[in-house]
Amino acid sequence: MIKTIAVIEGDDAAPEAMQPVIALLDSLNIGLEWVYPEVGEAAEARTGSIFPDDARALIDGADTTFFGSTSGKSGAALMYLRWGKETFANVRPCRYLAGCASPLADPEGIDFVIVRENLEDLYIGAEGQLTDLAPLALTGRNIKGFVHEMGVGRYALKAITEGGTERVVRFSFELARKRAGQRKVTCATKHNMLRETDGLFLEVARRVASDYPDITFESFIVDDFACRLIREPQKYDVVVMPNLYGDILSDAAGGLVGSLGLAASGCFGDDYAYFEPAHGTAPDIAGMNIINPTAALLSSTMMLEYLGFAAEAIKIEEAIARVYSRGDFLTPDQGGSATTTEFVSAVTQQL
Ligand code: ATP
Repeated sequence: MIKTIAVIEGDDAAPEAMQPVIALLDSLNIGLEWVYPEVGEAAEARTGSIFPDDARALIDGADTTFFGSTSGKSGAALMYLRWGKETFANVRPCRYLAGCASPLADPEGIDFVIVRENLEDLYIGAEGQLTDLAPLALTGRNIKGFVHEMGVGRYALKAITEGGTERVVRFSFELARKRAGQRKVTCATKHNMLRETDGLFLEVARRVASDYPDITFESFIVDDFACRLIREPQKYDVVVMPNLYGDILSDAAGGLVGSLGLAASGCFGDDYAYFEPAHGTAPDIAGMNIINPTAALLSSTMMLEYLGFAAEAIKIEEAIARVYSRGDFLTPDQGGSATTTEFVSAVTQQL
C-alpha cells in the first residue's frame, strides 16, 4: 500500500541533509510517495500567504510529514504540525553508536529517549508587559508587593494542564513497555520551586505510574537530573519532562553522544505524527555539503517504523551503525572529512 509523505525541506543547510535521505528511502522501493507543500517565502510570493490552504491540504492528506529544520517563514507550517495536529509527545532518542565522537570517556551503552511535552509550559507563547498584570493583583513568593510593580519588564506564562500531562506521561510509559529496555520512566521537574505547575506535572506522573506496576518510576528535580544525565547517562531509559526542560536537555543529550547532527526526533499526536531532526538549520555550514545527515536519517527510520516499515528501519539503523564503526566516511562534526552525500552513499552501500 502506498504511503504518502509530505516533505518540507527547511532552510539554510537543512535541505542538504534532507534530499539525500529522501533519495535513500526512495531507493528502497517500498511504495513511498512524496508530496511537497509549498510554504514560507515561495508560497507567499505565489499566494500572499506563508502557509496557504493547498499546503495544509497536502499535509492533511499525507500519512505523515518529514520536516527539515526551519529558521524562516516555513515556521508557520511547523506551528500547524505541532499545535494544529496536537502532536503532544516529542520523542528524542539518544543512543551511542560506536565510532561517534562522544566527549565522554565511557559512552558505551547510552540508550535512552527523552519525551518532551510538546504543546504547553512556557511555549504557549503568552507573554506581555508586567503592567498588564495589574488587574490580577498577583504577589510572587519572594516579591515585596505586587508582581506588576516590580519595575518595567515582561512576563511569560507557564501553563501545565492535567490532561496535557496525563497523555504525555501515559505515552512515555507505553514507550517504556514497547522498548523493553530497562523498563523505567524518569520524570524531571522543578516542583520544589514551581509547586503549582511542575508540582501538577509530577503529581499526574505519579498517578499514571500506578497504572504501570511493571515499569519502574522515579523522579528528580531537574537541575539535579541534568547533572545525573551527564554523569551516568546509561542509567536512563525513558525520560519525560515539561516542554522547556525537555527542549534544553535533549540538545544536551545530543552532545553526550557527539553532536546535534545525531539527534533525531518525532512528534506524535493521537492521529498524526511528523518527523524532524532535532538540530537547527546550521546556517554557518549552509551550501558546504557537510551537514551531518544522521539526525535526518534516524528521524526517517522513526518515520518508517510509524508507517509500518519496521524491518527497513532496523536495516538502515544497522547500516548507519556500521558506517560509524568503520569510521572512514564520517562528516566533519564527527572528526571525519566526508561530505553529506558521501556519508549517505556509505550508508546505502552498507544496506
Ligand atoms: P535553532 O535555534 O533552530 O536550534 P541554532 O542556530 O541555535 O538553531 P543549530 O542550527 O542547530 O542551532 O546549530 C548549532 C551548531 O551546531 C552550528 O554550529 C551548526 O553548524 C551545528 N550543527 C547543527 N546541526 C548540525 C548537523 N546536522 N551537522 C553538523 N553540524 C550541525
